[in-house]
Amino acid sequence: MKISIAIDGPAAAGKSTVAKKIAEILGYTYIDTGAMYRAFTWYCMENGVNCESEEECCALIPEVTIKLRPNGQVLCNDIDITREIREPRVSGNVSYIASYKDIRLFLVDQQRKMAAKHSVIMDGRDIGTYVLPDADVKIFQIASVETRAVRRYDENISKGIPCTLEEIENDVRKRDYIDSHRDFAPLKCAHDAITLDTSFMTVEEVVNAIIEIINKKLKEKEENNA
Ligand code: C5P
Repeated sequence: MKISIAIDGPAAAGKSTVAKKIAEILGYTYIDTGAMYRAFTWYCMENGVNCESEEECCALIPEVTIKLRPNGQVLCNDIDITREIREPRVSGNVSYIASYKDIRLFLVDQQRKMAAKHSVIMDGRDIGTYVLPDADVKIFQIASVETRAVRRYDENISKGIPCTLEEIENDVRKRDYIDSHRDFAPLKCAHDAITLDTSFMTVEEVVNAIIEIINKKLKEKEENNA
């Protein structure tokens, strides 16, 4: 039986950290959909395209191939850009790219194909509402903006990506605003998602809480189908 788990929520809520761990523990494939929007953004920037021009960015769709490797590497047209997509310049533009419907349709199609092949845990903004509306379990992971900024700042510094806390907090606020106000598939909690406020939780506590929710939901499903 193929299982799909959706984890949505605002920027830097720790979704990918916990999703990766849960995927490892449960043996599912982890899909970081944010990395796909970031990779497209990187490609636009490399080609000198104005990220605020929907027409110019969408014109690049036919020439872009994005691959997510199981080891976490992100490739765009076979170039390894795993590190580059985390740079503040990409973070600062990605929400424009992610608001363009044709780019979303292009990437969502790939995301759905991956979920049709494997049991997945997929994180993003619109997974439970749009990409996988029939996901077996939907989590909406939140945390205060201050907590999220500190978490992302620490993560960047540990990866050697230079930034300031103020820059990160501004980026997080800006992305949340654009992501939740776009017309097509905005950031939103699905009506059947479970909201988890992780402001005062450790990574391990969040991982355990989500695994508990997954086990409970899957057991309920099994009983209903019996
Ligand atoms: O998850 P991450 O913060 O890396 O995502 C980067 C950006 O990609 C988000 O701020 C959002 O603009 C976009 N995104 C999206 N839909 C998704 C995943 C990410 O719009 N499913």
